[in-house]
Amino acid sequence: MIVLVINCGSSSIKYQLYKMPEKAVLAKGLVEKIGESGSRLIHKSDKGKHEAEVAVRNHKAGMSEILRILTDATHGVIEQIGEIGAVGHRVVHGGEAYSGSVLIDDKVLACVEDFCDLAPLHNPPNLTGIREAQEALPGVPMVAVFDTAFHQTIPPHAYLYALPHELYEKYRVRKYGFHGTSHAFVTHRTAELLGKPLDQTNIITCHLGNGGSMAAVKNGKGIDTTMGMTPLPGVVMGTRCGDIDPAIIFYLLGKDEFADPKKIDNLLNKKSGLLGISGVSNDMRDLEELAANNGGHPRAQLALDIFNYRLKFYIGAYMAILGQVDAIVFTGGIGENGSHVRSASCGNLSAFGIEIDEAKNKGTIRGKEGIISTSGSKVKVMVVPTDEEGWIATETYELAK
Ligand code: AMP
Repeated sequence: MIVLVINCGSSSIKYQLYKMPEKAVLAKGLVEKIGESGSRLIHKSDKGKHEAEVAVRNHKAGMSEILRILTDATHGVIEQIGEIGAVGHRVVHGGEAYSGSVLIDDKVLACVEDFCDLAPLHNPPNLTGIREAQEALPGVPMVAVFDTAFHQTIPPHAYLYALPHELYEKYRVRKYGFHGTSHAFVTHRTAELLGKPLDQTNIITCHLGNGGSMAAVKNGKGIDTTMGMTPLPGVVMGTRCGDIDPAIIFYLLGKDEFADPKKIDNLLNKKSGLLGISGVSNDMRDLEELAANNGGHPRAQLALDIFNYRLKFYIGAYMAILGQVDAIVFTGGIGENGSHVRSASCGNLSAFGIEIDEAKNKGTIRGKEGIISTSGSKVKVMVVPTDEEGWIATETYELAK
C-alpha cells in the first residue's frame, strides 16, 4: 500500500510518501511560504532533488501541488494519485478523546475542531490539511496520529495542576504533553534494541530539537512528560522558556513595555530559551561554537549551562518516579548530535548507575542508533534517531489495511 504522510502547518505542508509495509520512502518534501511571496516546493526522491518557486495561494493549492509533483512525468514516483491507498495526518492536539491513532470520520473532525481552542496555532492548519486531502483524494482512508496520544496514560496525580479542580472540569486545564509521535517511536524502538518486551521496559526519552520534551515511560507507557497544557513548559528550548514561575507574567504585565499580554506570549514562545539567554542564537551548534572559541562567550555558555542543568534535573526526577530505569534515550537534532549535551546532562551520575563512555558518546554517527554508556553502566544511555513520519505511516497502514 502507498501511504502519504502529511504534516500541515500554518504556512507549510510537509509530505512523505511510503511504500508499506516495507516502510520504503518513495519521496518527501514540502511546500513552504503558502500564501506568501516566494512560495516554493522542495521535492526529493531517488530521481534527485527538485526545487521550484511555485505560486501557492492557499493550502488547497499546496495539496494540489504535492499530488501533481508525486505524479509528475519527470520527478514523480507514482503513475496516478489513485495509487495512494491511505493518508496519515499529524494532528497536534487530540485532548483526552484519543489515546491512539484513529481513522478520520466526521466525529474525529469535530473533535479536532473542538481542540483548536487548546492548540490554536496547530490544530487549525492540521484540520485544513485533512479537509484539503479529503477533497483531493475522495474515498481514500485518512488517519489522524495525535501528538498528545502517547501521553494519555499519564495518571491524574501527574497531569493535574494544583489549581481549583473546576478549571479542569470546565476548561480542560491539565497537562497533555506533546511530541508524542516521537516519544512513541523511540519507546518502541528502544525496547526492540534492548531485546525487552515493551510492557517491561522503563525508559526516559529526551526529544531535544528546536522544541524539546522529555518523557518518563514505565512498562512501555508514558507516566509523565515535561511539556504541559501547552508546549511551553519543561526543558529549555530554542526560543521557548520551558519552566518558569507563572507569577513572572503578572509582574511583567505591570511594566509598560509588557502591558499587552500578547507581548509576553511572544516573549516566552519566541524570544526566550537558548536565544533569550544567549542573546545571539537559538541554534545549539552556534552556541557550542561560540562557547568553545575565542576564549568563550559567557552568555552562550550560560545558555548551555541552563539547558543542561534542566535536563539533568528532569533525569533525576524521572529516575525517582520510575524507580528502575533501563535506558535514557536521546533523540531529535540536539539529542542525536549533541555529544556535549549528552555528556553534561548524564555526567557525574554514577551514584544513579549512569556512566557515559565518552569515546562512544563522541563517536556516534549522525542518523545511527547506538549505546553510549559504559558496559558496566546499570542504566544504558542510548541515541535513537527519531522517525515521526515513519511512525505515522505505520499507524496509518495498520488502521487502513
Ligand atoms: P530539530 O528541531 O530536531 O531539527 O533540531 C534542531 C536543533 O538541533 C538545533 O538546535 C541544532 O543546532 C541542533 N543540532 C543539529 N546538529 C547538531 C550538532 N551536530 N551538534 C549539536 N546540535 C545540533
